[in-house]
Amino acid sequence: MDFSLTEDHRLVQKIAREFAEREVAPHIKENDEKGFFDRRILDGLGELGLLGICFPEKYGGMGLDYISLAIASEELERVETSLRVILSVHTGLCGLGLFQWGTEEQKVKHLTPLAQGKRIGAFGLTEPNAGSDVAALEMTAVRDGSHYVLNGEKTWISLADVADTFLVFAYTNKAAKHAGISAFIVQRDFPGFSSSAIHGKLGIRAGNTGSFVLQDCRVPAANLVGREGEGFKIAMSCLDNGRFTVAAGATGLIQACIDASVKYANQRQTFGVPIAQHQLVQRLVAHMVRDVEACRLLVYRAGWLKNRGERNTRETALAKWYATCASFEAASNAIQIHGAYGYSNEYPVERYLRNSKGAVIYEGSREILEIMIGSYALGLRQDKPVNPPLPGWPDPGKEAD
Ligand SMILES: Cc1cc2nc3c(=O)[nH]c(=O)nc-3n(C[C@H](O)[C@H](O)[C@H](O)COP(=O)(O)OP(=O)(O)OC[C@H]3O[C@@H](n4cnc5c(N)ncnc54)[C@H](O)[C@@H]3O)c2cc1C
Repeated sequence: MDFSLTEDHRLVQKIAREFAEREVAPHIKENDEKGFFDRRILDGLGELGLLGICFPEKYGGMGLDYISLAIASEELERVETSLRVILSVHTGLCGLGLFQWGTEEQKVKHLTPLAQGKRIGAFGLTEPNAGSDVAALEMTAVRDGSHYVLNGEKTWISLADVADTFLVFAYTNKAAKHAGISAFIVQRDFPGFSSSAIHGKLGIRAGNTGSFVLQDCRVPAANLVGREGEGFKIAMSCLDNGRFTVAAGATGLIQACIDASVKYANQRQTFGVPIAQHQLVQRLVAHMVRDVEACRLLVYRAGWLKNRGERNTRETALAKWYATCASFEAASNAIQIHGAYGYSNEYPVERYLRNSKGAVIYEGSREILEIMIGSYALGLRQDKPVNPPLPGWPDPGKEAD
């Protein structure tokens, strides 16, 4: 076992941290208050190569491993959750989905501009009447000659109003339930595509979340990802990657809670001493430290499995479940340490609490992940290797069987 970071890992940590602190931190309070999504952040992440961090160089990526993806996610969310969300949906859910399931032609045409940051990717699974229950999807895709015609609505989609390339899930055969769902690459410029932003969110206000409608949207048959009926399997494997970045990001949010709490606890005085000297305050910080360390280990283990190209659904779900719940608790306790001041936006901890709640809901709610972990433990669920095999590292370009 080797817990040390490589030179590449340290470089990613430095690049992501400096970018977040220099370009995002100074404006985040204002952008969060105004609900303003700063598109320049996409350009910045793209220029640094972070949007294509774990894709092979032959597809325009940096060719780094999954631990690098985790480190970047942690560092970005340490400053602001909406920044990490970009990496989760663009790189984790959309890009890695295309990388694993796309044909060579699809990878060259659609993954490469995503990895280069020239186009932005999003993931369209959730609908007004289908969240946790994916089989309740209503979007349909009907074959018509060389195209499929897609109709339906997706909602609560991160980057819906700014992305160019969408990995979209629709029924090609509703009667077959899960086995009747298929995956498609849909582009914003296809006729019949329209999107809108959701306002009034609790958190991630500086991020873009929205809905999109496909109305008689003609999608070339060449944009079918995998085979007809493989959409559910594809969506779940994408979630294995998205959840990994969410777990790593939540770890960064806990670290941000520690940083803010330690600073404040050493400044604020009660009863003639800094509150850092009160043991009940020390306990709150100790819980955060316990969790940040545990989360990193869970995330790195999942990343290690990913690097080896091994199935990691259980380990990633466990990391995501634990880290998101722990980050919500850490943010709540960080406010507690800040007292009344933490209850206002004078300090960032109230934003941490609002931002942390989303991740307890999206990409597998707390309850869905609890059911998964319980099912594994009770022998009710077992994973098989997937086909095509998971793209491991350092051989991420290996071809499907
Ligand atoms: C900020 C944000 C960004 C998002 N981004 C995306 C995105 O990019 N792409 C995308 O496709 N989706 C996205 N989503 C949607 C997200 O994935 C869904 O909200 C999530 O899957 C839960 O679905 P739901 O909201 O419909 O809740 P529901 O599925 O209706 O669940 C409601 C409640 O019931 C519980 N529940 C449901 N079923 C069970 C059960 N069997 N047992 C016990 N409890 C249960 C849930 O845990 C939850 O607490 C995003 C959501 C948010 C908030």
